[in-house]
Amino acid sequence: QLPPTDHVPRPYTGPSRDEILAMRKQFANPAVFTLYREPLLIVEGHMQYLYDETGRRYLDLFAGIVTVSVGHCHPTVVKRVQEQVATLQHATTIYLHPSFPLLAKKLAAKMPPGLDVTYFVNSGSEANDLAITMARLHTGHRDVIALRNAYHGGSPSAQGLTSHHTWKFPAGGDGHVHHVVNPDPYRSPFSGTPEEIATKSAREIREIVRYSTPGKIAAFIAEPIQGVGGATHGAPNYLREAYAITREHGGLCIADEVQTGFGRTGEHFWGFQNFGVVPDFVTMAKGIGNGAPLAAVTTRSDIAQALTQRIHFNTYGGNPVSMAAGLAVLDVIEQEGIQENARVVGGRLKAGLQRLQQSHALIGDVRGMGLMLGVELVRDRATKEPAQQQTLDVLEAMRESGALIGKGGLDGNVLRIKPPMCITAADVDFALDALDHALTLAARA
Ligand code: PMP
Repeated sequence: QLPPTDHVPRPYTGPSRDEILAMRKQFANPAVFTLYREPLLIVEGHMQYLYDETGRRYLDLFAGIVTVSVGHCHPTVVKRVQEQVATLQHATTIYLHPSFPLLAKKLAAKMPPGLDVTYFVNSGSEANDLAITMARLHTGHRDVIALRNAYHGGSPSAQGLTSHHTWKFPAGGDGHVHHVVNPDPYRSPFSGTPEEIATKSAREIREIVRYSTPGKIAAFIAEPIQGVGGATHGAPNYLREAYAITREHGGLCIADEVQTGFGRTGEHFWGFQNFGVVPDFVTMAKGIGNGAPLAAVTTRSDIAQALTQRIHFNTYGGNPVSMAAGLAVLDVIEQEGIQENARVVGGRLKAGLQRLQQSHALIGDVRGMGLMLGVELVRDRATKEPAQQQTLDVLEAMRESGALIGKGGLDGNVLRIKPPMCITAADVDFALDALDHALTLAARA
């Protein structure tokens, strides 16, 4: 049973599910994908819960793809956005508005010293595009190193950084990106301890620089914990060694914190802090706005000078309504102990997943930190053959029980559990029961 709530959803009066499906088929993007055999119609959200058109409640374990950081329609965020939209919806950064420097200043306070200049854009793809552009301008080099299995966005240059065939089009991309071996110990081509695998993987960067570039590079970009890739990450020494090799070759280091930022990993506010490194750029999106279209790049002031050679302008970047959401999110994280909750409740969830691993042979690997967790399903633990169909079956069975979960990984066999960070221990226990049941059904099929 889902834990109780006082929230009463409003009656839904919009078009029916079938009408929406028919309209979508005729008029909307034919490439949209849905996680379920029968697409789910979601019409309302309240904190960690979503509601369908019949008023049925679901525990949201995916947070609109790791975007709803502090809860659906969190009252503080709603109030501040409503006040702003009724006062000034749009002005562009050609005028002064207090929210722009205010949020930039608050983000600087969350960063290691020196990372104190922020540019605001609208999406994670744009943030990564901008970081790469700045890195190339600042270093004078062109080549960029990214990790295999990474997701950095869908715009033509961010698509070049992304390393999943599913997300690439033959028309897009950036020819000067080189993808190096992933340090994930579960599927590494190298053998040894996770630390040895990390060192061997980092050395590959040196090899790629030697063989495939003029010897100098503009940047190394990585998600501290891969999101779409399925919560994979290397041992703590990986990023330290990768950053050192990058800097040896003139490059700047970019931490893509689109999924890992804003307290999601629990122990720290930023994902990179779990690995003892300091990047030159931090790119962020998703959780920064709790669903408002807002993204940003924070860098050092000497690097930011690169953009003063030209005008960098973005019509909606720094939009007052999105900024109101961003400012409210930071306040809520602080006032409501959201990061601490991610640490404690995430720890309970991960321990529960590890217990399930002991009783379900389908679970090959449990990984991640805080409320950014992945469960890799395999048909056979020895061969690690991906269990794609079983993953879909688990998603369906969990939905039946009232829990919505995500999936990812190159082969689509990783359950992604990344709920709004206001989730409670009771919700986690419900989710674990639902997953236990779903895995039993999936193994039988
Ligand atoms: N980086 C990461 C790590 C992401 O997960 C995503 C989106 N899934 C992006 C960048 C791109 O963000 P957007 O979809 O807002 O362009």
